[in-house]
Amino acid sequence: MSNNVLIVAEGKAEGLRKVSFELVNAAQQLARDLGGAVEGAVVGNQVGAWAEQLAKTGVAKVYVVDNAGLENFAPESYASALAEIIRAAAPAIVLFGASGWGKEVSARTAAKLGWGLATDCTDAKIENGALVLTRPIYAGKAIAHVRAKSFPVMVSVRPNIVPPVEAESPAAPIEQIAVTLKEPRARVVEKVENAKSKVDLGEASIVVSGGRGVKGPEGFAPVEELADALGGAVGASRAAVDAGWIDYTHQIGQTGKTVAPKLYIAAGISGAIQHLAGMSSSKVIVAVNKDPDAPIFKIADYGIVGDLFQVLPALTQEIKKLG
Ligand SMILES: Cc1cc2nc3c(=O)[nH]c(=O)nc-3n(C[C@H](O)[C@H](O)[C@H](O)COP(=O)(O)OP(=O)(O)OC[C@H]3O[C@@H](n4cnc5c(N)ncnc54)[C@H](O)[C@@H]3O)c2cc1C
Repeated sequence: MSNNVLIVAEGKAEGLRKVSFELVNAAQQLARDLGGAVEGAVVGNQVGAWAEQLAKTGVAKVYVVDNAGLENFAPESYASALAEIIRAAAPAIVLFGASGWGKEVSARTAAKLGWGLATDCTDAKIENGALVLTRPIYAGKAIAHVRAKSFPVMVSVRPNIVPPVEAESPAAPIEQIAVTLKEPRARVVEKVENAKSKVDLGEASIVVSGGRGVKGPEGFAPVEELADALGGAVGASRAAVDAGWIDYTHQIGQTGKTVAPKLYIAAGISGAIQHLAGMSSSKVIVAVNKDPDAPIFKIADYGIVGDLFQVLPALTQEIKKLG
């Protein structure tokens, strides 16, 4: 085992996801304290461009599995590919993003290799030679500090907590790792694009969310129009998702996504602790609610007591005038 920290990058059609750059930053201090280097891993099909992008973030080396068997997301295939990289790189710590993708793949990979995994961490540091992690628990009501008993260990890091590395560095070497993948147990029959996700929710700098107060699927129209006018993404409370008004991929909170945009607008959302767990780190929070005693106003920077069906269109109209 080396003293290195390996980060597992994730990407989308346009390139690496923001969380990949956050992981490089999170890994740098850990590697310094361990006396090792930061290395990167990229897995997928036709991911040469992602590997080149990662190679310029300041990592010492990038390992790639580029395999046609990874065209569709099959967690067991991704875990097999990553296990090969980890065997070759032999790092002390592997960092994943605690995104939907990262949560699934990290658990599979840790199980495959028999490593420990600390999930959804908001801080990681080396203290007296041991890895100490910070994990919000009970929907953020308590904070647990976890000490890893030994190395190697895997960690998933909550997105939008650590700033991403920005400066471009000279390109690091890229090593291709060959793997033989088994046929996955599930077959992808159809892929359907989510029409409401014009902007990636996890990376959006502005999020407009609707809750039970929107009263139905058509009630999301003013939420979407405001999000569009602001160039933001659409979020939702679990109540709205459970009612079937909007897809689960929009859910924000303890059992949904964690976001930390510059601006979060909550419309018709009461502010349950489980919802706050996913958005309370937002820079500026605006709440629109007709109940002046709604708990969301306790954490809002700006509160508008009123009917969202009047307030949101008025906001959209004013924002369009500015554009
Ligand atoms: C284990 C567990 C996990 C959970 N995970 C999540 C999670 O990830 N995310 C999440 O969101 N919830 C989660 N929940 C559910 C959570 O406890 C709340 O039930 C949920 O967040 C409530 O959603 P809401 O605020 O949209 O609805 P409500 O609490 O019903 O609030 C609706 C609000 O809309 C306002 N309103 C109504 N009409 C209007 C109008 N016309 N204009 C303006 N305001 C209006 C009302 O005053 C009210 O405040 C979880 C619960 C459990 C037990």
